[in-house]
Amino acid sequence: AKEQGRNCHRFFSETMRIPAARRFSIETKLSKALERGEFVLFYQPRIDIASLRVVGMEALLRWQQPDEGFVMPGEFIPMAEENGLILPIGDWVLQEACRQTAAWHAADLPPLVVSINLSTVQFRHRLLADRLAQVLADTGIDPSLIELELTESVLMEDTKLSAFLLSRIKDLGLKVAIDDFGTGYSSFSYLKRFALNTLKIDTSFVSDLNKDPGDEAIVSAMIALAHQLGLQVVAEGVEETHQLDFLRSRGCDEAQGYLFSRPVAAADFEQWVRDRER
Ligand code: C2E
Ligand code: CA
Ligand code: CA
Ligand code: CA
Repeated sequence: AKEQGRNCHRFFSETMRIPAARRFSIETKLSKALERGEFVLFYQPRIDIASLRVVGMEALLRWQQPDEGFVMPGEFIPMAEENGLILPIGDWVLQEACRQTAAWHAADLPPLVVSINLSTVQFRHRLLADRLAQVLADTGIDPSLIELELTESVLMEDTKLSAFLLSRIKDLGLKVAIDDFGTGYSSFSYLKRFALNTLKIDTSFVSDLNKDPGDEAIVSAMIALAHQLGLQVVAEGVEETHQLDFLRSRGCDEAQGYLFSRPVAAADFEQWVRDRER
């Protein structure tokens, strides 16, 4: 099951796995979801392991569909990538996450960094840098409070172009994270070539820590190598205290997972931060 989890986006992300009738129904509704205001962002905290303070949050998209309730991104993002809707949807995510972060900053929440997931279509769009500059100007947000998350497979697609596109993002003052690290074809030599700030260790390596000595070795090596390359390390999918203890013993910088909080709506996230920081 773990190996499957690790490779799932390679084999199961194809939207053809969804039955045709359901796919058609979702696609029709999806095309109207933006104008109907049915998207919401949930937020999940990122915790500094040494101090246990919240230092940021990942914005995770939810579709509040009137007939079906919450639809999870795994069900509609691959579809939106195929039919191009990911561009306007991703644009909304960018705008909304930055607006919310700036609002929290103004409301005296600690200066939290917001992580925003970018799909490959967005990353490779020729107007991305212009669009990012526009959102920065519109929201007045400090660019160093934004981290864009790109998966390993997105970056490895055309490494030369990726390196160029990354440098343009970095020129704007934004941070960049490599997401789901270790799940695809990855090479540490590319980490050095890409202008990255953060490496996110995929959930599949974290879930069996203390059961699987192989995973312990892999996670330890990832942390050490990332640190030698000057990257911050975030472990994803931290659900249990023993996982956090192991990560702390290996010097991992940050943790994210159900142990601290599930992704929650903005108002709940704000309350959670205020209660915790009190
Ligand atoms: P991701 O970027 O790897 O996000 C982390 C996923 O792990 C989230 O699933 C989150 O709810 C889940 N998670 C967090 N902590 C735990 C934990 O302790 N245990 C377990 N088992 N899971 C945990 P979610 O929200 O369903 O998102 C799935 C994927 O959809 C994301 O994976 C990301 O690739 C994509 N996605 C989400 N929002 C956006 C978006 O705004 N734009 C784009 N392009 N992709 C998005
Ligand atoms: Ca992510
Ligand atoms: Ca991830
Ligand atoms: Ca993932």
